[in-house]
Amino acid sequence: MEKKKITAVVPCYNEEAVIGLFYKEICRVAGAMERVDFEFMFVNDGSSDGTLEKMQELRKMDKRVCFLSFSRNFGKEAAMYAGLEHATGDYVAVIDADLQHPPALLIPMFDAVTKEGYDSAAARRISRKGEPKLRSFVSRRFYRVLAKLSQIEVVEGEVDYRLMSRAMVNAVLGMSERNRFTKGIFSWVGFKTKWIPYENVERAAGKTKWSFWKLVKYSMEGIIGYSTAPLALVSFIGALFFIGAIFAILYIVVKTVLWGDPIGGWPSLACMILGVGGLQLFGMGILGQYLGKTYLEVKNRPIYVASVVETNEPGEDKAEKGE
Ligand code: UDP
Ligand code: MG
Repeated sequence: MEKKKITAVVPCYNEEAVIGLFYKEICRVAGAMERVDFEFMFVNDGSSDGTLEKMQELRKMDKRVCFLSFSRNFGKEAAMYAGLEHATGDYVAVIDADLQHPPALLIPMFDAVTKEGYDSAAARRISRKGEPKLRSFVSRRFYRVLAKLSQIEVVEGEVDYRLMSRAMVNAVLGMSERNRFTKGIFSWVGFKTKWIPYENVERAAGKTKWSFWKLVKYSMEGIIGYSTAPLALVSFIGALFFIGAIFAILYIVVKTVLWGDPIGGWPSLACMILGVGGLQLFGMGILGQYLGKTYLEVKNRPIYVASVVETNEPGEDKAEKGE
């Protein structure tokens, strides 16, 4: 049988503490998979520590190691895109550098796509051990809301760790939107996916790059990127208020005709003005979110800018612009 190649795309942001451990572990797994060639595509997402130097060291020792380095921090979604773009493997895996995604899972994943007829195999963590309770709770709610509002199915416990066939990689690359919500993209392109459960592991070293606000922004991206339900919601509330107003007018007219019009009721008027004004601003805010996203897409800026590219692709020079 012809030897197949897997490219492992590894987004790294300030991961100097774990990158060596990760490399050792994935090499061990690569060694166990005899009939497969490997390519390791590290993407340095504008780290401010020694991550890039670590990558350069690894490449000196091992030509299977390739890397791209961004000119600043563009976010994990952009890093994954860049890695997929430069991957040359027949199959491509995306995996975190912090060993929270056990590289050993690549073995059953590879079996799923080569022997069991799947296009992709993805990891699903079945426990959220070591994660703050509030974060797990909010995150679970969020995915449920997202599933209701859009056609995007995010499987419970889904993480950005999966192995994909070339066809699926090309489909993902075909979605060149700037606001990238990768879980949504994977679900949107379809393909047959096998879910492989695993126990959550704490990161080997270093610390998480997600702050509370980064997570909020990520969730907004998910909802606005894949659903227009908030727009419909605003129209619905508007219509409801309008109908309410008609009834209120009828009531006041009838009351005035029957009993005259003693002065009064200005506090309720003030409340109404405030309430409706607030609602209008809220609606405009939602509209603005969509408009803002549209504006950024229309600008058509590159998804990332790489300042160093060291891959094994022939004719590649050292710096290039991503698109
Ligand atoms: N990451 C990245 N760019 C960022 C943030 C994170 O490339 O702006 C990488 C990070 O180096 C790691 C992966 O994305 O390999 C997951 O990040 P992290 O472990 O901080 O997230 P968590 O596992 O806590 O969800
Ligand atoms: Mg992690």
